[in-house]
Amino acid sequence: KSFAMFGFRPELMQGIHDLFYKEPTPIQAEAIPLILEGKDVIGQAQTGTGKTAAFVLPILERLQPGKRDIQALILTPTRELSIQIAEEVEKLGKYLNVNVLSLHGGTDIERQLSKLKHVVHIVVGTPGRVLDHMRRGSLHFGRISTLVLDEADKMMEMGFLEEVHEIIEGTPQHRQTLLFSATMPDSVKKLAQYYMKQPPHIRI
Ligand code: AMP
Repeated sequence: KSFAMFGFRPELMQGIHDLFYKEPTPIQAEAIPLILEGKDVIGQAQTGTGKTAAFVLPILERLQPGKRDIQALILTPTRELSIQIAEEVEKLGKYLNVNVLSLHGGTDIERQLSKLKHVVHIVVGTPGRVLDHMRRGSLHFGRISTLVLDEADKMMEMGFLEEVHEIIEGTPQHRQTLLFSATMPDSVKKLAQYYMKQPPHIRI
């Protein structure tokens, strides 16, 4: 298996090459073709399996850098994960002129607001801070095409259910929804039933 099988654009292949990723990991090999087809996908995988690139790569492949809209929203439970995912987006998207912003607690909200005055294509963030921006009116997700719920089990454990609901209600109904989780407790199954359209379930 090689990354060539996905038909990614050359700029994205260059980003992958720069990170020395030689071949797709199992979760990437299974999830990426389905995501590129536009399907909602549940990926059950632990950290360390390459799950982040499994959703970041198809988002970058379909991104339209010339558009000034936020095109993807990635929700994740912690500040550390949010920063880490944003860094992976920047590295893989190095040749795509992509602007990514991490919105997490513990950082000056005014500084985040000033960054939102520029073009942002991809927002990564923790539910509390993302909702905070939505309520201030500094963020709108009405034009996103992809929503990712990363480490959904951890977000539920941390009590983010209400925030996640409210955020999803502010996204378009015709969006693509991707859910990644190490485990599938009832809370996560319910979330998937409520917000996803006949998602294939990949287990690694
Ligand atoms: P994750 O499971 O997303 O936390 O990724 C774990 C680590 O694997 C990260 O450091 C990634 O940069 C790295 N990684 C992701 N995909 C690949 C790949 N196809 N080949 C080699 N390393 C990868």
